Amino acid sequence: MKAAVVSNAGPDWEIREVPTPTPGPGEVLVRVRACGLCHNDVLVGQKRFPFLGPGPIITGHEAAGEVVGLGADVRNRRIGDRVGVPWMQGSCGQCAYCATDTSLTGQTAMGCASPRTTGVTVQGGHAEYVVASASGTVLLPDGLSYEVAAPVLCAGYTAWSALTDAAPGPNERVAVVGLGGVGHMAVQYASACGLETLVVTGNPEKAGTARELGAANVVTSGTELAEIGGADVIIAVTPSASQASEALQGLRRGGHFVVSGIFPDGSLDLGPRSTFWARRQRISGSTHAGPARLAEALDLVASGRVTPMFELFSKDRIEEAVTELTRGTSRFRAVITY
Ligand SMILES: [Zn+2]
Ligand SMILES: [Zn+2]
Repeated sequence: MKAAVVSNAGPDWEIREVPTPTPGPGEVLVRVRACGLCHNDVLVGQKRFPFLGPGPIITGHEAAGEVVGLGADVRNRRIGDRVGVPWMQGSCGQCAYCATDTSLTGQTAMGCASPRTTGVTVQGGHAEYVVASASGTVLLPDGLSYEVAAPVLCAGYTAWSALTDAAPGPNERVAVVGLGGVGHMAVQYASACGLETLVVTGNPEKAGTARELGAANVVTSGTELAEIGGADVIIAVTPSASQASEALQGLRRGGHFVVSGIFPDGSLDLGPRSTFWARRQRISGSTHAGPARLAEALDLVASGRVTPMFELFSKDRIEEAVTELTRGTSRFRAVITY
């Protein structure tokens, strides 16, 4: 099969011929039709995340396609099923973490001693075929194309998990910090729920698009957000730790600040003499919140209430897609077809 391989030598992505994998017990073979490109794929490719699988790296945890092969003992998937393969595929079931939690969430991926995570501990979906544990796949809603489903499998899942974890009240105001792959989905999910939604972006050129996505207002910083009354819930999906930290300025008293995603070069900074405690503000983390949340995220897209925006690339143009993502010039998401 053809796969987008990152060699051990460096960060270059290359389409190469590699052996097609065979599904083992409990696993399915998926013919990948589309796979989204996540920031974390690039970080794995740059070796900034350890890749624990054997041989050259095939990243990709937004793979959508159909089941074309079944290993032994697979009862919950059939040949021809349309599925998605997200990041979290399985946990070891034997470690101290698994003794208390066996759910397939991002939390389990970080807590389990030996998790099975797509494109991180096992080969991922930037390839014509991927093997996944059957129970780690998600059935795609009828009528949802593979290309549109792909960005939901991480970006949409992350955004919807953050919003449901933040649990805004029906009349509360939500602000999304960062308008990229995850942020543009978060704005749509929040506004699809009828919430007054604002966007904090350092790029004023994105203001028009933010409004088209459902934002009632667009500001450039947390300070500016505070000037227009602040927000009850702030969802930080920016990779910039400093931008997220500054956005705390826009949180109302009693508000909830949710950090969702990775800061590759820093961490949240409350600043000197922060009095967030006296304002009874909450700061919490969020990650993929389990298959039920993913199914909801997909259903909202299938219903047409939320629409991922992405640029489609054929597999031989993957390097171009990676370059755009690295430079921050891609339009929200790149989806690669295989
Ligand atoms: Zn991702
Ligand atoms: Zn475990």
